[in-house]
Amino acid sequence: MRAVLIETPGRYSVQTVPDPVPRAGEVVVRVDAVGICGTDVHIVDGEFPPTPYPIVPGHEFAGEIVEVGAAASGVRRGDRVAVDPSLFCGACHYCAIGRGNLCERWGAIGDTVDGAMAEFVAVPAANCYRLPDHVSTTHGALVEPLSCAVHAFDVLPRALGAHYLLYGAGTMGLLMLQLANSAGAASVSVVDLNTARLEVARALGADATAASADAFDRPQGWEIVIDCTGALAAIEDGLTRVRRGGVYQQFGVAPGTATASISPFRIYNDEITILGSMAVLHSFGRAVELLAKGAVDAETMITHGFALDEFDSALKTFRSGSGRKIQIRPGS
Ligand SMILES: [Zn+2]
Ligand SMILES: [Zn+2]
Repeated sequence: MRAVLIETPGRYSVQTVPDPVPRAGEVVVRVDAVGICGTDVHIVDGEFPPTPYPIVPGHEFAGEIVEVGAAASGVRRGDRVAVDPSLFCGACHYCAIGRGNLCERWGAIGDTVDGAMAEFVAVPAANCYRLPDHVSTTHGALVEPLSCAVHAFDVLPRALGAHYLLYGAGTMGLLMLQLANSAGAASVSVVDLNTARLEVARALGADATAASADAFDRPQGWEIVIDCTGALAAIEDGLTRVRRGGVYQQFGVAPGTATASISPFRIYNDEITILGSMAVLHSFGRAVELLAKGAVDAETMITHGFALDEFDSALKTFRSGSGRKIQIRPGS
C-alpha cells in the first residue's frame, strides 16, 4: 500500500510499504479521510517526544473495515467507522483511576504506532465507533478533534448562562465555540489576529469577535476563558480576563519549555480556577453522537481534501495557516 512515511525528523515521503496485518483483536480500516493536526507537524519536525521513527502519522481518521482479525468482536467487514486513536495501557495508576489520557505508558495510533496517512491501517476493534448512515467518513474524520473538545467541556464546571471568551478561531477554537453554544453559553466572544478566521467564527455563532479582548468592553471579565492557541501572548492576556470566581482553561498546546506570567494574588483574591485539558477521555462515542446530531457544522469545518501523494502540498497548506481542517483522502 501507499503511505506517508516519516523516516527521521524532517525526512518524509509517500512510499510503498507492506500492507498492515491485523493482530488478535484488531481490524484493518481502509482510510477514507484523515485530518492533519498540529501534532502531525510536530512529529514531522521532531518536536513530539514520544514519537518513534520511522512512523506513519495520522490519528484523526475514518474509513471502512475491510478485514477483521482473530478475536476482534463487535465489528464487521463493511462497517464505516471513526477510530479513537488512544492506546492506554489499562494497568497503571492513571488507568486504574479512570484517567487513561494521563497513562504512564500513553500511546496513540499515528503518534506512537503507525497511523492513518496511508491506504490502510490496523487498529484495535475496541477503538472503532460505527458512524450513522447519514454521517460520511469525510465528516467522520472530525470526530477525533471533536472528542478532544468534548473532553475539554467534561473538565469545565457546568455553567448554563456563562459568558465565554475564546482565544483562537482555528479548527479547535471553532469546535469549542460551537460546543459552548450547545452547552448554553449566554455569549461567546472570540479573539484571533486573523480577521478571515473571525468571519467564520461569526458565521458559526460567535456573538462578538475581535483581534483583542479590549474591543469587547467587558471590564468585569468572563466566567469562562479558554485558550485554543497555545500562544503565550494569548495565554497571558486570557488569564487577566477571567471574571472573579471564574475559570481559565488551557486547551491549546504551548511549547513544552514555555512559561507564562500569572498574578498569584488574583488567583487567590478572585478565586480563579485554572484547568488543563489533554486529548481524549471517554469522549469519543459522545463526539460521534454530537456530530450525527449536527452540533458542529462539519461542512464548514473541512476546507481541503488532498490525495495521499499530495501530502507535501497538504502540509504546506497547513503551515500557511489557510483554511480550516485539511484532510488527506487516500482513496481519491
Ligand atoms: Zn490531533
Ligand atoms: Zn495506563
